[in-house]
Amino acid sequence: MFKPGRHFLQIPGPTNVPDDVLRAMDHPTMDHRSPEFGELGLRALSGLRTVFKTRGDVIIYPASGTGAWEAALANTLAPGDTVLMCETGQFASLWLRLAQRLGLEPQMIATDWRSGADTAAIAEALQADKEHAIKAVCVVHNETSTGCTSDVQAVRQALDAAGHPALLMADVISSLGSIDYRHDEWGVDVTVGGSQKGLMLPPGLSFNAVSTKAKAAAEGAMRHAYWNWEEMLKANSTGFFPYTPATNLLYGLVAAVDRLHAEGLDNVFARHQRHAEATRRAVRAWGLEVLCRTPEHYSGALTAVRMPDGHSADAFRKVVHQQLNMSLGNGLGRLADRVFRIGHLGDFNDLMLAGTLGGVEMGLRLAGVPHQSGGVQAALDCLADAASGTRGAQAA
Ligand code: PLP
Repeated sequence: MFKPGRHFLQIPGPTNVPDDVLRAMDHPTMDHRSPEFGELGLRALSGLRTVFKTRGDVIIYPASGTGAWEAALANTLAPGDTVLMCETGQFASLWLRLAQRLGLEPQMIATDWRSGADTAAIAEALQADKEHAIKAVCVVHNETSTGCTSDVQAVRQALDAAGHPALLMADVISSLGSIDYRHDEWGVDVTVGGSQKGLMLPPGLSFNAVSTKAKAAAEGAMRHAYWNWEEMLKANSTGFFPYTPATNLLYGLVAAVDRLHAEGLDNVFARHQRHAEATRRAVRAWGLEVLCRTPEHYSGALTAVRMPDGHSADAFRKVVHQQLNMSLGNGLGRLADRVFRIGHLGDFNDLMLAGTLGGVEMGLRLAGVPHQSGGVQAALDCLADAASGTRGAQAA
């Protein structure tokens, strides 16, 4: 069926790619051994450091985020090692399963998938581990399946307070470039990122930002080849890669990082917080419930909304897709059909949010989901107040 106008892609990644980033990638294929490529590689690598907020090395893989998850573990750990993981949602669970498949022994801290990582339980586990069997602590900074963030800095503090030498690993796949994150300042050893969310690029690149301690742990870690940091870093020192890089995506990466700096990273983060707050006000005005139940863990990147009992989130999303030409995120894992997720990250502005929430409100009506009207109005009031500076848009 012909659908006029632009599709609203409001899943929490992959996100909309801005036109200038698309244009930057619209470039003849280049010789990846040429001097010009070396210059591009160095620009891409140094730009990424500013987004991760690190002076250290960032590795770029031509892979989806799952590859960078595997790289983080495979470079630093050996089969049989214990890793402390916090099961905050579907992505944390997938990382845990991947760790198991690599022969690691995950020690899991469960949550109800409605808040961030339980930092008190992490602190307790670290204090109890007198033999230092735990070799790494892994947290997902922004759990894309639930819209809950975790306090990575508090996990660092728990490690320090326990005097525990485990590596700290954080997944920022859906927070990089949309929620404040500081690799060096927060003492993270391996940060795992991806291209397709806050960085506003298509899927296809993923990253490991690595500390000196992580690089030291890489000596003598499990056998692996494609993910090897050492080979990569040797080639990267002159802007090259040990195998064929995703050349055109790197052009896009340079343009996307320039865009983030043109807006200013702090402004980017504030914009995401403002859109998240306006979205939550809309959800409450509809009489629906935000999945995240702990305000300190609210995500700036997406909002997961609980469906009223007896109603199917997937049936609702289908109506929105077919009749309104908008994609919303589905519920994942144990949340399947129970929630829908509104992505408000990446290249996004107030009017795009207004259109998105307008689509949700119309969709609720078309799908016969019980709700009150007025959600869009509540969001518009919030955005207008923020724009005129009357009340700001602090998290309520
Ligand atoms: N971690 C998080 C937080 C994610 O949101 C995703 C994907 O959405 C992944 C990991 C897995 O990344 P990918 O699907 O790019 O392999």
